[in-house]
Amino acid sequence: MRPIIIAIDGPSGAGKGTLARRLAALLGYPHVDTGAMYRAVAWKACHDHLPLDDDAVVSALSREAQIEQDALGIRIDGHDVTRDIRTPAIDQAAAQVARLPGVRAVLVARQRAMGAGGVVMEGRDIGTVVFPDANVKVYLDASAEERARRRMADAAHTASGTGDVARVQDAMAARDRSDSTRPVAPLTLAPDAVYLDTTELDADGVFAQVVTLVRRTQNEPDTGPASS
Ligand code: C5P
Repeated sequence: MRPIIIAIDGPSGAGKGTLARRLAALLGYPHVDTGAMYRAVAWKACHDHLPLDDDAVVSALSREAQIEQDALGIRIDGHDVTRDIRTPAIDQAAAQVARLPGVRAVLVARQRAMGAGGVVMEGRDIGTVVFPDANVKVYLDASAEERARRRMADAAHTASGTGDVARVQDAMAARDRSDSTRPVAPLTLAPDAVYLDTTELDADGVFAQVVTLVRRTQNEPDTGPASS
């Protein structure tokens, strides 16, 4: 079967990670969490005491850094940062470096290079910027309250279980605002993406709907490589 590119976008806590992991396992494709790449760059910039608003400095870091991501987690320049990138401080720092055009250019080029043999890629700009010709585009959303509740229940996010839901919701809203209003590659619904509100759906329900979409696409005649 021809390899396809599946783009999953949406705000934090909408269920992108769960869906992307399951789809990648089903199809035997790599799962690329592009948010983790911005987080890893932000972690390294903080670790090296670099100014998070200096595009030249942080994009040089992202160009030179070795970033490896697999089912076990993510490493940057040999540091396993899988856990350390899921903190409230890195939530903020990642959104800050993600506003820098030079950093985005470097990471988008890396992301495009990962699409060749088929991929499930999640983020904010996958269907709009990284792979505008992706074969399947899904935009996951959920109510702000439900997304905050999921984030607090997510064991991967250290410290998010310790705050109250209103505080987590406020922090998420601030980050969503930054992601949706930045001048470069803002979070937005691609016109040809399938919009799924997952507020009332569990992970199995979301997965089943997207698998139906994927199977339909795989059965369509090949109209050329999505990554070209
Ligand atoms: O998805 P996650 O919450 O881990 O992403 C962390 C941050 O990285 C987001 O708030 C956003 O600012 C940035 N991001 C981005 N583009 C992507 C993925 C993530 O700007 N494709």
